Amino acid sequence: MRRKLVAGNWKMNGSLAQNAGLLDAVRGGMASIPNVDCAVCVPFPYLPQAQQRLAGSSVKWGAQDVHQLEKGAFTGEVSAAMLRDFGCSHVIVGHSERRAYYGESSRLVAEKFLAAQKAGITPILCVGETLEQRENGTTEAVVAEQLDALIQLGGVGALRNAVVAYEPVWAIGTGKTASSAQAQAVHAFIRQRVASHDSQIASGLCILYGGSVKANNAAELFAMPDIDGGLIGGASLVADEFLAICRAG
Ligand code: PEP
Repeated sequence: MRRKLVAGNWKMNGSLAQNAGLLDAVRGGMASIPNVDCAVCVPFPYLPQAQQRLAGSSVKWGAQDVHQLEKGAFTGEVSAAMLRDFGCSHVIVGHSERRAYYGESSRLVAEKFLAAQKAGITPILCVGETLEQRENGTTEAVVAEQLDALIQLGGVGALRNAVVAYEPVWAIGTGKTASSAQAQAVHAFIRQRVASHDSQIASGLCILYGGSVKANNAAELFAMPDIDGGLIGGASLVADEFLAICRAG
């Protein structure tokens, strides 16, 4: 049985003052939810604050992006080793906002994924289709291309102990959640695709759902056989809501 993981994606939100209360509340709340893993992916400047306030608790912390190379003349970028220096356990790669606004290709996302893993950080690989792609009937083809780019570059072994997040773009920040049946169908597709390479890796793969998960829809989504938790955007900024989602895990 796979353990549930609930990961927060704060995106570009927060301040030192606001984060303090949120981190402390999540830390305190998770002490009574021992059966679920929890991580918060914060903006880079707040990693020391997350580390300071969460160290020694069950709550892990991470970042929302990473550079694919180890070091060098890449002004403004952050390497996986730097994230490791601040105790990151997880990093999101290939979020749809990065793919859409910064032109990140599936190949680049795969490189970032492998760079994180090499540094001992668990990457959370985001995949998912736009509304247009869903309506065109190409959801599976889109998700397959995003997943296959990693398998081609790193081999299926890269997915051992890794995390994939299925995030339909039309459900992110829109209040429109995929139905549990819609999400389950894509999660099952992802697991089967990995199983076609290695069934053991597939059965251990943690596949999160992301897209307008709230306290009132989390339990139904998390009850589906191939949904192993959630990647939570907006609701991860509100401690009570986020903890209620964790409790549903
Ligand atoms: C996200 O940013 O990954 C996300 C799922 O956002 P939201 O929960 O706000 O839809």
